[in-house]
Amino acid sequence: MPASQTGTPSPTTRLISVVLPCYNEEAVLGRTHDRIARALRPAEGVRYEVIYVDDGSADATWNLIRTFTRESPMVRAVRFSRNFGHQAACLGGLKEARGDAVVLLDADLQDPPEIIPEMVSRWRQGWRVVSARRTARHGETAFKNLSAFAFYRLLDRLSDHPVAFDTGDFRLLDREVVDLLTGLTDRELFLRGAVSWAGFPETAIEYQREPRAAGASKYTLPKMLSLSRSAFLTSGSALPLRIPLCTGSVSLAGALVMALTRRGRPKALPLALFGAQSLAVGVVGEYLHAVLRQGQSRPAYVIRERIRSTIPGAVLAS
Ligand code: UDP
Ligand code: MG
Repeated sequence: MPASQTGTPSPTTRLISVVLPCYNEEAVLGRTHDRIARALRPAEGVRYEVIYVDDGSADATWNLIRTFTRESPMVRAVRFSRNFGHQAACLGGLKEARGDAVVLLDADLQDPPEIIPEMVSRWRQGWRVVSARRTARHGETAFKNLSAFAFYRLLDRLSDHPVAFDTGDFRLLDREVVDLLTGLTDRELFLRGAVSWAGFPETAIEYQREPRAAGASKYTLPKMLSLSRSAFLTSGSALPLRIPLCTGSVSLAGALVMALTRRGRPKALPLALFGAQSLAVGVVGEYLHAVLRQGQSRPAYVIRERIRSTIPGAVLAS
């Protein structure tokens, strides 16, 4: 970190926290730290803090992080007791962050730290969320590209709020958004979905995603499946649970029509039984959906702005 960042900031200086979730990243972390230090030069009215979150690494990741913290007071770190996963590590970093805005950044240099100053300048123009949209993904497998393409589009169809396409967790979040996210009680938090759900004005910077600088991906297939599961379960969609309601209703209607025709009558009863069962499962699904929503216990609304009366005690003239 540049030494000038350690000086006493002026009261108008805004603090930006950069959070890096790390899991077994010893191969790349030194390079990442150097690039961050070069990219995050303090600008007019802006200073940075860097927060490393060690998500239970079994290699030398924590030792490296400890060295970084000794070298610069602008670097802080937390270490999880074991591997809790990328989303938990991001949430842990958001809770540790003290900045007026927080940027989430992968540790493998797939997210270029050089675009952070541009994110900060958009934030200072008034945007509460500045995301980074991938226009190209280099060095990924065909499976990863295809599954990511399908994932965002399907999620958008199913969600009860719009989902930004091709946008990962690399984004800047205003303090207000961070406080909202860290206050959610979701047991299974899918951050990207929660940011879309919060609905604050969002702008995107486009970038080309480079291959991982070193080491192998830590998002194994079970971790990818678990992330997709959380994404769909917390998307607010009742669609999967409503499929039995539809099949049940259509089958019962079909059975009724068949019962009216002489040739169809023998097959009407099994179809009616199937329809009744399906309908019953659908009704259980409706209750399950209500329980899910209740369990998530998200606020019913999020306030974007409030205008207060400038005259104390003023009332509308009657
Ligand atoms: N990561 C983590 N915990 C995990 C898996 C990944 O903190 O259980 C971190 C990882 O160190 C990296 C980021 O999450 O900084 C994204 O992981 P990765 O680059 O392996 O995923 P990919 O880009 O291949 O989807
Ligand atoms: Mg990566």
